[in-house]
Amino acid sequence: MAKFNWGALERKWQKKWAWAKVDETDPDPRRPKYFVTAAYPYPNSPQHIGHARTYTIADANARFHRMRGFNTLYPMGFHYTGTPLYAMAKRLSQNDPEIIETFTKIYGIPAAKLDGLKEPRKMADYFRNDIKKGMIEIGFSVDWRREFTTADRLYNRFIQWHFRWLNQHGFITKGTHPVAWCPNDKNPVGVVDIQGGVEPEIGDSHLVKFESNGTIYPTATLRPETIFGVTNIWVNPNTRYVKAQVDSEEWVVSREATETLEHQNHSVRIETELSGADLLWKEVVNPMTNTAVPILPADFVEPDNGTGIVMSVPGHAPYDYQALMDLRTRSWTSSEPGDVVRKIEPISIIKLEGFSEFPAADMVKKFEISGQKDPRLAQATKDLYSKEYHNGVMTDNAKPYSGLSVEGARQAVIKDLGSAGKMASIYELLNRPITCRCGTRVVVHVVDNQWFINYGDEEWKKKAHQCLDEMTILPEERRGEFNYTIDWLRERACARKVGLGTRLPWDMDWTIEALSDSVVYMAYYVLAKYLAKEWVIFKKFEKYPQKLPDSFFDYLFLGQGSTEAVSRETGISKRILEAARREFSYFYPVDMRHSAKDLVSNHLSFYIFHHTALFAQDQWPRGIVANGFVLMAGDKMSKSLENIIPLRQAVAKFGADPLRIGTLATAELNQDTDFNETLATTIQDRLIGLISQSRKLRRKMAAKRAYSTLDRWMLSRLNTAIQAATTAMERLRVREVVNIVLYHLENDAAWYQRRLGPKKTRGDARNQVLRQVFDSKARMLAPLAPHVAEEMWFTLGNKGLVVRAEWPKPDDRLHDKTAEASESIVKQTLEDTGEILKATGLTAKSITYYAAGQWKLSIYQKALTAVQSDPKRQGEFIKEIMSNPDLRAIGKPAADYAAKSYQQATQMKEELRESRVGVQPNEKRVLEDASDFFKREFRAEIHVSQEGEKEIRDPKGRSRFAEPYRPAIFIE
Ligand SMILES: [Zn+2]
Repeated sequence: MAKFNWGALERKWQKKWAWAKVDETDPDPRRPKYFVTAAYPYPNSPQHIGHARTYTIADANARFHRMRGFNTLYPMGFHYTGTPLYAMAKRLSQNDPEIIETFTKIYGIPAAKLDGLKEPRKMADYFRNDIKKGMIEIGFSVDWRREFTTADRLYNRFIQWHFRWLNQHGFITKGTHPVAWCPNDKNPVGVVDIQGGVEPEIGDSHLVKFESNGTIYPTATLRPETIFGVTNIWVNPNTRYVKAQVDSEEWVVSREATETLEHQNHSVRIETELSGADLLWKEVVNPMTNTAVPILPADFVEPDNGTGIVMSVPGHAPYDYQALMDLRTRSWTSSEPGDVVRKIEPISIIKLEGFSEFPAADMVKKFEISGQKDPRLAQATKDLYSKEYHNGVMTDNAKPYSGLSVEGARQAVIKDLGSAGKMASIYELLNRPITCRCGTRVVVHVVDNQWFINYGDEEWKKKAHQCLDEMTILPEERRGEFNYTIDWLRERACARKVGLGTRLPWDMDWTIEALSDSVVYMAYYVLAKYLAKEWVIFKKFEKYPQKLPDSFFDYLFLGQGSTEAVSRETGISKRILEAARREFSYFYPVDMRHSAKDLVSNHLSFYIFHHTALFAQDQWPRGIVANGFVLMAGDKMSKSLENIIPLRQAVAKFGADPLRIGTLATAELNQDTDFNETLATTIQDRLIGLISQSRKLRRKMAAKRAYSTLDRWMLSRLNTAIQAATTAMERLRVREVVNIVLYHLENDAAWYQRRLGPKKTRGDARNQVLRQVFDSKARMLAPLAPHVAEEMWFTLGNKGLVVRAEWPKPDDRLHDKTAEASESIVKQTLEDTGEILKATGLTAKSITYYAAGQWKLSIYQKALTAVQSDPKRQGEFIKEIMSNPDLRAIGKPAADYAAKSYQQATQMKEELRESRVGVQPNEKRVLEDASDFFKREFRAEIHVSQEGEKEIRDPKGRSRFAEPYRPAIFIE
């Protein structure tokens, strides 16, 4: 095959779309609207195949809705805010060889151009331009009149309005809160700043102060109520500890913990260094029970976990139990440690249904733990903690809290120890280790006088849940993650000292960070269109953005104030103000927001929060799609694997439509999809095949011909395909749509053509039928592979653009059960004949098919009904059949067949049974009609008879084997 010119095809249709302005959407009160957005790209690198998936699904969704009659808007902007661009530009200007290699080798940027990218803003502009070109080349139907960047001065003004509003309504707090922090950058860090893009989760641990001669040994724990079960405390003998003045007390903690404490506003002065071994065998006093317990060695204790010292509760903590067992089996050089260890017995403090008095021992046994470094201990611990927390009751060993629930005891212990000054707390990263993009380990830092968005506000959480409950979430499986995030979120630092972005309007030292200035920008697309119109008035505001008052935004987005007043204040004409307000009211809310799954725990949840804070309830978001990632030939894409293909290179290499389908075809929304070259090539061939088949069907004037059963079968299959594809598109199960259009329907059309055989001179209805099939195929393909769909549509001789055509509607009149049943008989017969020939090795001269006799058909239908809608037992059924005088006259064969058909009906799949109840094609005629086909297939003479008819030719008595839907076969 000559090499297909994808580029030419793409440019041709992209030009026509641009000329027809198919992507430009303005309000139209006569039509329902649909507003699709996808997370705007961050231009610090080109987009790669991984990005294609999210934007292609969004584009397919937009195109689908357009074809369904919705006035659909799909706009795009660019996110310049934040530190990644800074970090990248900085590394480039330091001539970091890794970055230079990435830019030149993977991204294909000529080395001579690199100098021009060393400014963050210039780098952003460069990649923005590149990304935009890529989006056009792959055929995204974006309304580019609404493009903006978050560094635009009027966007900054918009964000200032947004934040001033949040501040005035109590959503912003200033204070001392823990944040995830990069000690190197001296800045808070969020998901965009972190390697691997995870959102840091911060939790707090309690520090219980054990004591020895005035020195505090603080142990970090999430379960302070277990203090009654402490038998000893653990240190790691191979770790460095220090004695230090912490605030006004003398503490012993790990070396690492001193840094943690300093980050969390404690003053720390180190006095002496100690090794873990120096601490062993000493005794410390339990602040709750006042008993003395020994300090023992354990390897599982990590120096950077809390203080590097933990309390040991072997009755209820699997790690502690296992560490104690490990110590007991050790041989000791001196006698003393052995005695200490031998004396220790677990203490039971929590009663738990279904467990012994020492649940930790039960868990260690159940998980077959082999030692304190066994990774399964983490799961054992998690399981037991959760069980005890929810179902445990404190025992008499936990006086005065015996009888309390675990939760109740925890609160009581925290209150009592806290008020006695015997407890402190420390913040920790729950999902450590986390590394900043600069390579530094991220820590928890307590910042004073820092600005926070208070996602911990209970009322706000309630509203966010309310919004989520009403939303469509695709795939639905992700809803739990949203609920978890909404519950978990609390104060979140919203401003930084560095990076591009918008200054905090009331404290200009701070810049609003990337995940805070990107949550309501979908509203800005409306305004961006007006700004792009080059009206003098907006030019003025671009120059002096501070002159655009908040009242303008209040009017536009919240419907507050009067047009007159805002017009007077801003000098913008009433006509423009009203048009912009109308446009906002028309397009808002966003109907579907698209993103990849990694943004659920941050951006997408913030998006919900902020909309419920700012906007009226009828403008809250209606839906979110969070799709899986794209793998490259089974691997995650990463620069180190060098398997990243920039999007534009991929489009040039594979073609836009093969790439679009390739990123959609192998997985449903929820899963990661796998892209590889073989897949792309297969899809290319399929798509090229569709175009060349369309060429043969080019509309010619021809007399309309009557439809045969076979024609009606093809149209019935088409109708089923349309129905299935429509349902699948509505839930964005795009993989299914690809399968239906490119595979199932293709196979049906191939069968149809095979059945028809070579064209007869007198002609048949095939062109009529196939054109209908291909018309619908082009339409169903249009959201997914728009260039190929246009080419098919045009080649078939249709007028106009397919992207403006209507999505095909299922038509119940085309659904033809009898035609489908007839064709299934032909398929079955073809298969059965082929198998006999293969098994016997015969070359057939003549084949005779016997359709089942009338009496069998009548029993068969009765059996289907008996099983389907009128349940009877087999015996009862046979009796009923034999009560019919005609059937009784047949005798034993009738009774035998009644039993057999009843069995078959019971074992049949419900769907199949349903399709056959009351559907009984004239099988003899079906076979006769297919005689030419069988003759071609087997190169033999074909005869057709019906069991029991007069003058039947049946030398071997085969006709008695005939059954409904399964003719008997005699080969000579
Ligand atoms: Zn850093």
